Amino acid sequence: MPLTELEKNVLRAKGLTDANLSRLGEVGVGSKSDFAVVGDADTLAALVGLPGEIAQKVMAWATGAAAAPAAIAAPTNFVVDSGDVVHCVHCKHKQPKDYSAGDLCPACGRQAEPILACFWCSSSGPGKFCRSCGAQFVPTGELELAVLLRRDGLPKDAIPAKLIEMSAADKDVLWGRVRRSR
Ligand SMILES: [Zn+2]
Ligand SMILES: [Zn+2]
Repeated sequence: MPLTELEKNVLRAKGLTDANLSRLGEVGVGSKSDFAVVGDADTLAALVGLPGEIAQKVMAWATGAAAAPAAIAAPTNFVVDSGDVVHCVHCKHKQPKDYSAGDLCPACGRQAEPILACFWCSSSGPGKFCRSCGAQFVPTGELELAVLLRRDGLPKDAIPAKLIEMSAADKDVLWGRVRRSR
């Protein structure tokens, strides 16, 4: 689907010339959604030969970056232990001392910690502990093992510790059970 007249006019308003617009068509950008494939302003600037500033405006419009939903409100009940240093999973930036789970990284603006799923109640969120039930999160790669231990009747508080102390061989046995139960 080609860019509509309105979309072309928006692009002109962002500073694109008609030559830029036809260049967009040549590189294969035929609709607003194609900008998502382009991915970022630098790539767009390189593809079309646009000044970076204009490319940024276009990408903000096309991908709705300016209208991105606000971050999840920071929780008040769980605060990362001051002894722990949290590094952003995206850019490795060290988070400030008053960092609390769910905060956005001041360096790159993304959520500094991954969103983890709770093995106990299946809700998910950032940080070390589930905000719904208080269970300690286990690594994503071991979520299924933790769910299995829960089905085995282990108490909520014992499961993360159990996974940490289990040997690789013990885990292999558990993985065997996970696979059979699928
Ligand atoms: Zn970051
Ligand atoms: Zn939970």
